[in-house]
Amino acid sequence: MNKHDSERIAGLLSECHFQETLEIGQAEVIIYNTCSVRENADNRLFGHLSQLASLKERKRSLKVVVAGCIAQKMKEDLLERSPHVDIVVGPNDLGALPHLIRMSEEKKARLCQARDKPQQEITSLPSKRKSAFKAWLPIMTGCNNFCSYCIVPYVRGREHSRPFEEVLTEAQELVDDGVVEITLLGQNVNSYHDGNGRGFFHLLEAVSQIEGAKRIRFATSHPKDLSPEVIDLIAQRENICNHIHLPLQSGSNRILSHMNRKYTREHFLHLTSLIQERIPEAALSTDIIVGYLSEEEEDFWDTVDMLKKCRFDQAFIFEFSPRPGTTASMMEDRISKAEKQRRFRMVNDLQKEISWQKNRSYIGRCITVLVEGRSKKDPGEISGRTDNNKVVNFPGSSELIGKMVSVKIVDAGAFSLKGIAHVPRRTTSHENCVIFKGELQRISD
Ligand code: SF4
Repeated sequence: MNKHDSERIAGLLSECHFQETLEIGQAEVIIYNTCSVRENADNRLFGHLSQLASLKERKRSLKVVVAGCIAQKMKEDLLERSPHVDIVVGPNDLGALPHLIRMSEEKKARLCQARDKPQQEITSLPSKRKSAFKAWLPIMTGCNNFCSYCIVPYVRGREHSRPFEEVLTEAQELVDDGVVEITLLGQNVNSYHDGNGRGFFHLLEAVSQIEGAKRIRFATSHPKDLSPEVIDLIAQRENICNHIHLPLQSGSNRILSHMNRKYTREHFLHLTSLIQERIPEAALSTDIIVGYLSEEEEDFWDTVDMLKKCRFDQAFIFEFSPRPGTTASMMEDRISKAEKQRRFRMVNDLQKEISWQKNRSYIGRCITVLVEGRSKKDPGEISGRTDNNKVVNFPGSSELIGKMVSVKIVDAGAFSLKGIAHVPRRTTSHENCVIFKGELQRISD
């Protein structure tokens, strides 16, 4: 959501004739679009801001803007705490950013606008996408769930779904624009509702029916709201990607209840077995928090047990750290840092082993990859993702970026697969290639 907001900020400022620069020394305006979901975001922001001291000294006209969650949370305090910041703007007021920049310039004033209710739908702002072939498509904003550890409902406000037809129109425009992969975006996409009896199932179905829509993803699902109908729809539709991110957070019912997650480990297990049974190709990823407030050894082992049972393809694991303003931040944190680190290492090692085993099972297979760019690890290689969200690196030219390529997997690690571009042998009357659910397979007729 934060990355998508950055695209809206870029779109908004482009319309006001600003140009992006990669040279910080050339910038007239520097914007930090912050997200405080992960630990230490505040410290990192203040580290960045203090590095601007000499630049601000040399260039008096430079405007420094802080947007996003931290702006919303700290408001005027941010101006007080950091003398280098000129403008603080919350997610609900992003549409006012060009005006604020102008006002700050004209009045030589430091300004803050971070109201609690959206003043203008972020989705009505212009967007400048980073990618020509991948796009975020927000279907809702905010969240009503108030998980005890999470700051989102406080900084993003209450859940609000976009009108059904508006989402469909934007999806159609993206397809017409040549976008290959659309990600429907929301804090809890499964609770989407248009007020006329249409929910996420209907929206996903309608987007998948757009002619030319090649890949559709969605994030994020809440285990209490993911329905069997949506799982069946993914199984039926070739252009809905076989990947579900389903945050477990904890394997202990006691901790889940403490976190206000509103599901049990039994319900979660039921969902994962349904997914595995109905979509055998599906990859599952999750989020795990270890060392939450009063997590006992027994609770922790429940989480370990769930990792073994669910066998996620990928897990984002975090040591619990309280976010100021959340319910959890008002309770005693009884787990020491050292103990959190021990639990993190154990879960991380276990998950790495599971991910590695699952990835190894792809060796020898040919898979369709949407090439996203040059590999970060090896500039001689290009990198992309499969339908089920596996990262694949393989030697290839930049001309393939944005294209679907068939790749034969030759090796696998815990985090990515390695392959070679697969050029099908000339077909004979006995050998044909067919595209089946996004994968290239050789069949004999
Ligand atoms: S569902 Fe819970 S964790 Fe997710 S955004 Fe809402 S409050 Fe935060």
